[in-house]
Amino acid sequence: MPSIQKILVANRGEIALRVMRSARELGIKTVAVYSEADRHALHVRFADEAVFIGPPPSAESYLRMEKIIDAARKTGADAIHPGYGFLSENEDFAKLVEDEGLIFIGPSAKAIELMGSKLAAKAAVAKFNVPLVPGTSEPITDVNNAKKIASEIGYPVLIKASAGGGGKGMRIVEDEKSFEEQMERAISEATSAFGDGSVFIEKYITKPRHIEFQIFGDTHGNVVHLFERECSIQRRHQKVVEEAPSSILTPEKRKAMGEAAINVAKSCGYYGAGTVEFILDDKLNFYFLEMNTRLQVEHPVTEEITGLDLVKLQIKIAEGNPIPFKQDELKINGHAVEVRVYAEDPSNNFLPDIGTLQTYNRPQGHGIRVDDGFEQGMSIPFYYDPMIAKLICHAEDRAGAIEKTIRAIDDYEITGLETTLGFCKFVMQHEAFRSGNFDTRFVENYFTPASLLPEANEDEELIASLLATTLLNGNGKATEETTIATPVSKWKKNRL
Ligand code: ADP
Repeated sequence: MPSIQKILVANRGEIALRVMRSARELGIKTVAVYSEADRHALHVRFADEAVFIGPPPSAESYLRMEKIIDAARKTGADAIHPGYGFLSENEDFAKLVEDEGLIFIGPSAKAIELMGSKLAAKAAVAKFNVPLVPGTSEPITDVNNAKKIASEIGYPVLIKASAGGGGKGMRIVEDEKSFEEQMERAISEATSAFGDGSVFIEKYITKPRHIEFQIFGDTHGNVVHLFERECSIQRRHQKVVEEAPSSILTPEKRKAMGEAAINVAKSCGYYGAGTVEFILDDKLNFYFLEMNTRLQVEHPVTEEITGLDLVKLQIKIAEGNPIPFKQDELKINGHAVEVRVYAEDPSNNFLPDIGTLQTYNRPQGHGIRVDDGFEQGMSIPFYYDPMIAKLICHAEDRAGAIEKTIRAIDDYEITGLETTLGFCKFVMQHEAFRSGNFDTRFVENYFTPASLLPEANEDEELIASLLATTLLNGNGKATEETTIATPVSKWKKNRL
C-alpha cells in the first residue's frame, strides 16, 4: 500500500490551504503552485515548498497540466490533490498524473469522463434505477425537432448544455413563443464556454429544491454516503448558502436518496469523494441532476455534522485504504450552515466587486469556522473566482445554527469592497428560509436591492443610541466609543 509522503496541491486560495492543513496533520509534506497574481498568497506561505507556474490568467498557469506535472517532478511530490475547479474534473489531467506514476487524489479518469457528460451520466445511472428528470437522452441540434420534444415534455422546459457547468448554457423556456431564441442563446453560450454547443431538454421542475449527497467510495468496492446538503439558496443557478442536514427530508426519504446516491457511484465504479446532486419537486419526488467528481466548496457542512475530515479521508482512500467505517456507524450531529462570502455586489445583480480588503476581521466563537485565503490588506485577484471566504456555523439544531450565523455575520468586518454578507444575513432572517419553506427561486421571489438597506426601525435605534450617548457626553460630540458601541456591523456601516 503506497503511503503518500508529499502532496502537490494544484489549486489556490482557501481550498489549497484547507487541503494542506489536513496533509500536514497526517505528517505529509506539501507543495504549492502559484501564478504571478498569487506570489504573496497564504497558500504559498503555508506550503513547505512553492513552485511558480506562470502569468495570472488561469489558462497560462493553474490550468497548464504540464507545468503542474513539472512542478511535482521537480519537488519529488508523489501525489496531486486538484482541489475544486481548475483541473479537478479534467479526465486528461487525472490520466496524465497516473501515467507519470503519481497518485491522483480523486476518482479514476474514466469516472470523471463519464460523469462529466450530463447525458452520458444520465444513461449510466438509469441502468441502476436512479430516477431522472423527464427529458431527452440525446443531444439536439435541430430547432424544429427540439420544439416538438419540448411541447411533448410540456412547458416550462429547461435547455441545458451537455458539457455544462457553473450554470452556463442553461435557459428556462416558459412557452413555445420564446423557444427558438432561447435555444440559440443556450447553444452560443455553451459553445463559447465549453467549445461544445450540444444541448438537451429537460422538464423544468417548478419550486425545485437542490439537495445533494456526499458519497465516498474506496478501491475495494465499498461506497457510503455522508448524508445530504441543502443547496437551494442560489443566485444565477449557483449556490451561495448551504446547510446540512436539509430541513425537509424525512428519515425515509433520506434513506431512499442515500441509496440512490450510492447507486450513482456504483454505476461508474467510483472511488474517492464525490457528490450526487438531486432536484426535488414540491411533492418531494427526487431526480438525479449530475455527479460532481471532486470535493465540493460546501463540504465543510458535512464535516461539521459528521465530525469527519473529508480531505484526510480522500488521502487515505488514495493510498488504497478501505473506508474506515460502515454506513450504519454514521450519525448526524446537530446542524451546520455555510454562507459564502463573495466579493460581489448583491444590489448590482451580484456582479463581482473586486478590490482590496481594507479591513478584514473574522468572527470568532464556539462552533464558528472560517475557511478563507486572504488577510487584511490583500487584494482579491480579478483573474479568479471572487470568493473571499466560507463562514460555517455549527450548533445543536437548525435554529441555533441560524442564530449563530447571524451573530457571526454581524461580527465579520470587511471593508473596501461589497460582499454577499449582507445578503446572507437577509436570507438568515427571512421567514421563508427560517420556516424551511423555500426553493431555488428564493432570490427571484424575495430579494431586491432594497432588502439590503438598513430597516427603518434599525435606523431609529441607531439615531436613538447616538442621541443617548451624545446627551450623556454632554458636549454634543460623538466619542470613539459611540462608534464602537453602535450595534451595526461593518458591512452595514459601509452603507450608512
Ligand atoms: P451546472 O452543472 O451548470 O451547475 P446543474 O445541472 O447542476 O448545472 O444545475 C444547476 C442548478 O440549476 C440546480 O441546482 C437547479 O437550481 C437548477 N436546475 C437544474 N436542472 C433543473 C430542472 N430540470 N428544473 C429546475 N431547475 C433545475
